[in-house]
Amino acid sequence: MFNADGINELDASIMDGSTLAAGAIAGVHRVRNPVTLARKVMEDSPHVMLIGEGAESFGRTAGVDFVEPDYFRTEHRWQQLQDARHREASNLQPPREYAYGTVGAVALDAEGRIAAATSTGGMTNKRWGRVGDAPIIGAGTYANAQCGVSATGWGEYFIRLAVAHDICARMAYGGASLAEAADEVVMKRVPELGGDGGVIGLDAEGNMHLPFNTGGMYRGWVRPDGSRGTAIFAD
Ligand code: ASP
Repeated sequence: MFNADGINELDASIMDGSTLAAGAIAGVHRVRNPVTLARKVMEDSPHVMLIGEGAESFGRTAGVDFVEPDYFRTEHRWQQLQDARHREASNLQPPREYAYGTVGAVALDAEGRIAAATSTGGMTNKRWGRVGDAPIIGAGTYANAQCGVSATGWGEYFIRLAVAHDICARMAYGGASLAEAADEVVMKRVPELGGDGGVIGLDAEGNMHLPFNTGGMYRGWVRPDGSRGTAIFAD
């Protein structure tokens, strides 16, 4: 995922639902595992969100691994940027799949604690220091005692609807189940506003729900009994 300057610019966040501790970083180029740095922000700094050079400078102090920026380069994504530039010059929209490259995880431990994390290169051809929902606590990532959510999709809409928090809030205040809350937000509210995307969600009983309003969403899961699965399209 390249920005308009041909650079990979990474955003990530993590949240511990048992304590509501959270950490996030945005606009870094050289951090090998952005979620690891987000976790350092959560555990080893008094802050929740660090950006750009300051975040990298903190990362050096915190001892996370650094790589050359071309570590994140793939030819496939580079060609998407070239195509997006050509389309932009002709006033054409890039295909929606150029947008998405997010990886998220939600986990429940043996003591019933939920954590969620999200990591992304954002959107191809992004500019002006654009930051999406992935590092925004409450938009792309949220976890509390009952619910954990990690989102992927058109970040601007996920920020405006505070998607991850809204799902957990509907459960806490409205008595909705995870599936009801996530379907209402992902299948109704996001598309009504003009956005698209999906979430992975987990509740404290171990129920998972992974709705998306796009053609597909790569997803995988492991249940407490060790059974596991993967899927791309609906069903
Ligand atoms: N949500 C991400 C963003 O807007 C994109 C993605 O899901 O891949 O930055």
